[in-house]
Amino acid sequence: MITQTLRYKYRLDPSEAQAEQLAQFGAWNRGVWNLLLCETTQQYEKDKTFLFYKQFADKLKELKPQSGFEWLKSFDSAAAQQVARDLDQAIREGTDKVNQKAFPKHKVTYRKKKLNNDSFRCVNTNNSVRIEDGRLRLPKIGFVPIRQHRALPNLIKSCTVIYQAGKWYASFTQEVACRSAKELLKGIVGYDINSEHTVVGSNGYYVPNPKFLKKSKDKLKQLQRQLSRRKKGSNRWNKSKLRLQKQHKKIGNQRLAFAHEVSCTIAKSSDIVVFEDLNVKAMQKWNGHMIKDNVMGLITNLTEYKVARLGGVFEQIGRYERSTGVCHVCGTEHRLSLKQRHFKCLNCEEVQMRDEAAAITIERKGETKLSAAGIVVHQDGLTPVAQTKFCGKTRVFTRSGVKLQLEPEQKKAA
Ligand SMILES: [Zn+2]
Repeated sequence: MITQTLRYKYRLDPSEAQAEQLAQFGAWNRGVWNLLLCETTQQYEKDKTFLFYKQFADKLKELKPQSGFEWLKSFDSAAAQQVARDLDQAIREGTDKVNQKAFPKHKVTYRKKKLNNDSFRCVNTNNSVRIEDGRLRLPKIGFVPIRQHRALPNLIKSCTVIYQAGKWYASFTQEVACRSAKELLKGIVGYDINSEHTVVGSNGYYVPNPKFLKKSKDKLKQLQRQLSRRKKGSNRWNKSKLRLQKQHKKIGNQRLAFAHEVSCTIAKSSDIVVFEDLNVKAMQKWNGHMIKDNVMGLITNLTEYKVARLGGVFEQIGRYERSTGVCHVCGTEHRLSLKQRHFKCLNCEEVQMRDEAAAITIERKGETKLSAAGIVVHQDGLTPVAQTKFCGKTRVFTRSGVKLQLEPEQKKAA
C-alpha cells in the first residue's frame, strides 16, 4: 500500500496558565538542545568524535538528579528524548559529506524575542497524547482546548506544539493511505501558469487572481512603515512587531487556503494532470512578482500529492519545452510580447487566446511524454512509438474527463 505523510495542524486555545507552561516547555526544549550540543562539541574538541542518541540519553539520565538540573524533571522526558533524537539526526546530516547540510547550531533566544517560533514535540506513549472532548492532552501539561476542524485519520504518534505569531498550534504527522492507482484514467488536462489568472486549464478552467492577497499586502506595507517609525525595542515597537508577524501569518494562511482550494478542484477534474515546470517561468523572468509570491509553487506541490492520493497521474513537462505562443492547431511557434493576450496563427490563421493555447500545448506535450514513457496508453489502441524504461504497469486513459464550463463573467474577463 502506498502512503503519504501529511501534516495536520490545529489551533490551541490554552488558558493563561497553560500558555505560560507551553512557553516554558518551549524554552526547556531549547535548553536541552543547547545542553546536548555543548556536550557533543566538547567531546569533539577532546577526541574528534561526536556523541549520539545513546550517549545523549545517558547524559540526560545522569544530569536529571543533579542540582541545577531540576527543570529536566519538570520537562516531559519523552520530549527531551525527542530532542536528543533530532540532534542525533542533525549531527549525522551535518557531518555527512554527501548531504552537505549545515552542522546544527545553538538555539538562541533574545530577551525581546523570547517567544518566537518556540516548539517542542511530545511522543505518544500509552495514550499520553490524545484528543478528548475538544481538548488535547499533553504529558505534564494536561488538557488544552483544541480547535479540531477535521478528524485525524490515524492514531497520534507524536505531536509538535508550536508558537507562531502570537498563537499556539498543535501539528500532527499522519500516514495517509493513497487510493490504489486507477487502471482506467479519465481525462487529461494541461495547466498554464499565469499572472493574470493564476491557473488556466486546457479544459477552460480559470482561476482569477485572488484580490485578498493584494489587500493583505497593502496592509503589510502599512505595518512595515509603522514599525520603521517606532523606536527599536520600545513597547510600541514590540506591539507593531507582533502586528506585523500576525499579518505575515495571515497572508500565509490565505495563500495556503487558496492553494488548497485550487489544487483540490484541479485534482478532482481529471485523472491526468500536466503542469509546466515552474522553473521555466522563473528563467523567463516572466513575472517576478508572481514567482516571489510562490502561490504557484504551492499549488503545484499540493496538486501533486492530491492527484497521487486519488490514484491519478501527475506530470510536469520539462523546462525546455515551449508552450507560450504555440498554435494549438498546427504547432507553429510565435513570439509574443507580454501584453499580447490573443494571437492569430501565421500558418493556419486560427485566432486563439494565448493562455488557453499554452494550456492545450502543455496537455499535448504531457500526453506525448507519458505515452512515450509507456506510463499511459490511449484506449483506442494507438501504441506509443518509443517506450523508454518504465517498470510500472501501463494504464489506459480516455479523454472524456469532466469538462469544466467557463463562467460567463470569467469568459468576459478573458
Ligand atoms: Zn496554426
